Amino acid sequence: MEQNITQIIRRYGNDKARLLDMLIDLQEELGFIGTQAVELLADTLHMSHADINQTLSFYHFFSTEPRGKFTIYLNDSVVAHMFGRETIRKALEKEVGVSFGQVTADGLIGLFSTACIGMSDQEPAAIINNKVFTKLTPYRVKELVRHIREGRPIEELATESYGDGKNPHPLLQSLVSSNIRRKGMVLSDEYDYGSVLSTKLPKMTPEKIIAEVKHSHIRGRGGAGFPTGFKWEFCRRAKGEKHYVICNADEGEPGTFKDRIILTEKPELVFEGMAIAGYAIGGDEGILYLRYEYRYMREYLEDVLQKMRMRHLLGKNIAGIEGFDFDIRIQFGAGAYVCGEESALIESMEGKRGEPRDKPPFPVERGYLNQPTIVNNVETFATIVRIVENGGEWFTQFGTEDSTGTKILSISGDCLFPGIYEVNWGFTIADMLDMVGAYEVQAVQVGGPSGTLIGPDEFYRTLGYSDLSTGGSIIIFGRQRNLLKDVVLNFMNFFIDESCGSCSTCRIMPLMMRDKLVKLLDGNGVAQDLDELQQWGTVLLASRCGLGQTAGNPVISSLKNFRYLYEELLQKDVEFDQGFDLQAAVQESCDYVGRVPVFSHH
Ligand code: SF4
Repeated sequence: MEQNITQIIRRYGNDKARLLDMLIDLQEELGFIGTQAVELLADTLHMSHADINQTLSFYHFFSTEPRGKFTIYLNDSVVAHMFGRETIRKALEKEVGVSFGQVTADGLIGLFSTACIGMSDQEPAAIINNKVFTKLTPYRVKELVRHIREGRPIEELATESYGDGKNPHPLLQSLVSSNIRRKGMVLSDEYDYGSVLSTKLPKMTPEKIIAEVKHSHIRGRGGAGFPTGFKWEFCRRAKGEKHYVICNADEGEPGTFKDRIILTEKPELVFEGMAIAGYAIGGDEGILYLRYEYRYMREYLEDVLQKMRMRHLLGKNIAGIEGFDFDIRIQFGAGAYVCGEESALIESMEGKRGEPRDKPPFPVERGYLNQPTIVNNVETFATIVRIVENGGEWFTQFGTEDSTGTKILSISGDCLFPGIYEVNWGFTIADMLDMVGAYEVQAVQVGGPSGTLIGPDEFYRTLGYSDLSTGGSIIIFGRQRNLLKDVVLNFMNFFIDESCGSCSTCRIMPLMMRDKLVKLLDGNGVAQDLDELQQWGTVLLASRCGLGQTAGNPVISSLKNFRYLYEELLQKDVEFDQGFDLQAAVQESCDYVGRVPVFSHH
């Protein structure tokens, strides 16, 4: 065991900035990360045990105890529940013979829940030893467990075709469908990969590239919507020994899966966009930060990168441009939604807990390893290639004035055709519902749990930064769904699980709001509870990062647009006229978890 651990640490040059990689390999190769591993890591990397344990305990996919030779992570997202997650949970418990959170006595199989794994178009789904199994049924569960017990390799089980009879790419080794339903400039099949790098770039200066990107008015596709051209310009101007280009592929917003499909179907486009960014900012290295849930893509993406190197689209003197040296490596996350925030992602890449940094300085000045860094989303990089190919002016003809171009939506829930759709910004919700075959719709969640829940009287609204902004997650709920019990409660539990715990507001208020919601659902609510929910949502705005600031949105948004659902739950003829005492509420919330009341970390 000691030899294995030492080998893994050496694999990463005893570099403590690569702690996350070491822990991932330890977890995969040893099945758990025990005391011996922590001690060896601490000794070799000259870190304290506390530092190692901080990182180790932060990520969902690390464990200090064995989780079984075969670890089954069943998705716990709203959409998974809508499509039979409970039935699959019961089937698994029956076939495996243990409850969730447990491992069989022989150590063969462990059952665990996990947050959205990016398969909302093909639920219920689970990850078993990094392979993805979708569209599970009780029969399929029975067969899978039987095959595992018989000793059949998981790779074999993961690639057995079923349903549509299609086999996945041999290097993907998972039965995941790419449900592309509508193509636009990014998903188009017309583009000849590498042509911008090899034919356009040699004729353009980095400043010209940035000017075109600025002229296109493209804003980051990950959700925050910062103008990409300005980000690149700031980074190019920043002084540093090295400049980094990071692609954020940590899509963890429940209901989002577009980056999974872009990376499966158009990986060359994403990597080409990263290389263009490298040229524009004077970048030395690109890093794809890929969520651990997509570990099954590793060999496939490494193969794509290798082929690009062979075509001289990565490496030294790319496209014959003297001194344009740029390569890309893949860095995996280990399960933490907050790492989608760019500074938390950088912390994670440096082997630490994924806690958002205080800003300024912004990553463009001091990012990865304190060097100037741009972080852009998968879709942004893919789109950039088409912008540089056709010019910024061309791009502005798509979309609206303040939201130029197209947007790729991940649409799931109660509709006939879940999948990804590339539409021009400015698309209405009503058109979107018609497009995907969604009828008798009660509500649409735009932008995932941190976004907005709207009802039919708002379906005239449009997708765009000035109206309904979204990173891409759209979940549709039919009339048969219980919005508060099945949707809002699940979203609140999600935020509670995913808080990094740094701010007292984010650590406490979602818990209190969830408990209040349960009180209402149990029939014990009074009118004052609704006022308190509203005000607690305001308290959350004092949180340090977007996760905490939006963690109350499921309640606040549903309270605004579906207030009648809350009112129907209230006890009749019970009234309180006490005013809301914010200080007392925060004190109460802190007492609840035994903390000193502080609104935020700083
Ligand atoms: Fe962590 Fe605070 Fe952000 Fe919540 S709001 S995730 S506690 S930094």
